[in-house]
Amino acid sequence: MTKSGPSRPGSARSADAVLTAARLNRRRFAAGIAGAGVSLLPRRLLGQGAQPRVVVIGGGFAGATAARFLKQMDPRLDVTLIEPNAIFTACPFSNEVIAGLREMRAQLFGYDRISGDGVAIVHQAATGVDSQARTVALGNGVKLNYDRLMLAPGSDPRFDALPGYDEAAAERMPHAWKAGAQTLLLRRQLEAMEDGGTVVMVLPALPYRCPPASYERASLIAYYLKTKKPRSKLVVLDAKDTFSMQRLFENAWKEFYPNLEWVPVSSGGNPTGVDVTAMTVSSDFDTYKADVANIIPPQKAGRIAELAGAADRTGWCPVDPVTFESRLVPNVHVLGDAVIAGAVPKSAFAANATAKICAAAVAKLVRGEVPAEPKFVNNCYSLAAPDYGFSVAGVYQPMNGQWVEVEGAGGISPIDAPRAFRSQEAKFANGWFNTITSEIFG
Ligand SMILES: Cc1cc2nc3c(=O)[nH]c(=O)nc-3n(C[C@H](O)[C@H](O)[C@H](O)COP(=O)(O)OP(=O)(O)OC[C@H]3O[C@@H](n4cnc5c(N)ncnc54)[C@H](O)[C@@H]3O)c2cc1C
Repeated sequence: MTKSGPSRPGSARSADAVLTAARLNRRRFAAGIAGAGVSLLPRRLLGQGAQPRVVVIGGGFAGATAARFLKQMDPRLDVTLIEPNAIFTACPFSNEVIAGLREMRAQLFGYDRISGDGVAIVHQAATGVDSQARTVALGNGVKLNYDRLMLAPGSDPRFDALPGYDEAAAERMPHAWKAGAQTLLLRRQLEAMEDGGTVVMVLPALPYRCPPASYERASLIAYYLKTKKPRSKLVVLDAKDTFSMQRLFENAWKEFYPNLEWVPVSSGGNPTGVDVTAMTVSSDFDTYKADVANIIPPQKAGRIAELAGAADRTGWCPVDPVTFESRLVPNVHVLGDAVIAGAVPKSAFAANATAKICAAAVAKLVRGEVPAEPKFVNNCYSLAAPDYGFSVAGVYQPMNGQWVEVEGAGGISPIDAPRAFRSQEAKFANGWFNTITSEIFG
């Protein structure tokens, strides 16, 4: 196995080092709140010698990239990143944590290098946005002024979408679609399950955060069961009939996982509700008794996007494809999973790439310049087993006010590749995670 482990990306520094750095970072921020441009004063006017002030909400793949890149691009800009957590927990590779193939510490990243680059970091949650006054309210009552706001809060589960599945139910039937406590809860439940038990997974309809990761999760849970609890099985109830890299996944399932039953929507897989007391999951055709249930519910943009008025009736945020400026709220740009922009995938890879595009656009806009028309590449790796990976790549460009995929420019792993090729792709997946996390947080 090319497995992750203590020597992998996030673990270049130990978890203790990350935590210590986070504490220092908090102190640095406490000093920085006075000295690094975070103020309660009225917004300074441009053209009066003050530097444009950009506030970024959310320190995940999109927001942390945007804040750091913006400051590196133009050190004169006054950039503030608002993020409630001192440590960021990454979702990519968290399926391996669930399957017991990787430790959580490899998923943890601190913000000290970003603040070292001159970004003021505020460890608070943003609780409101006044787009008229151009202020952001924080959980501690402080208000920050901005000239441009970048919203990157990721996605939230819709707890009103699947009957019986609310926030309390998620403590019994974890979604684990935000990495952290939920990831570890699901892992512990799998470990505690008797051999011979049934795991039920529920997968929603599109759009949601990183759809391929839900099939990767099914694969790695099946791997865990096969190797640790061989009399157990996994039932996957899916609100879809087709999905990305489907043949690659299905071939791997046929080869490795007779214990995995995928029930697509056309075979009655559409999930209709859960009962946490009875530990049952219902679909169009059946009710399944679960020993462990992993419910991935429908999703929407992080709540603050809604509060800012940037989310539409779909729950996601429409944007201009060149600048990522909200179509609903001026001077507010939306990044990462929260965006709905044609073909742009909800992936960490795309969040990182488009955050740079948006940062470059914002740097120009605050100087009164015109942003250039962008393009970007997305590449999504998936693991069907620890040493068995494949990927899909696409190139994207704006067209008629939307992002579209450039025909013929992308590619997908070959269907009939030898095992060494799959093993190589699993290594590339690791390499990608190392590179992106060290670019953003390292
Ligand atoms: C199991 C799993 C596996 C995945 N694997 C891959 C993969 O292999 N490759 C890939 O490219 N993508 C993968 N993804 C998708 C990837 O994790 C997301 O697309 C990516 O995290 C999106 O980045 P983001 O910055 O929009 O959101 P996030 O990374 O979730 O960051 C959002 C941040 O905003 C903060 N925030 C939220 N609300 C507020 C507020 N009110 N105030 C301040 N801060 C706030 C949060 O605390 C968080 O830090 C995976 C996802 C999952 C669930």
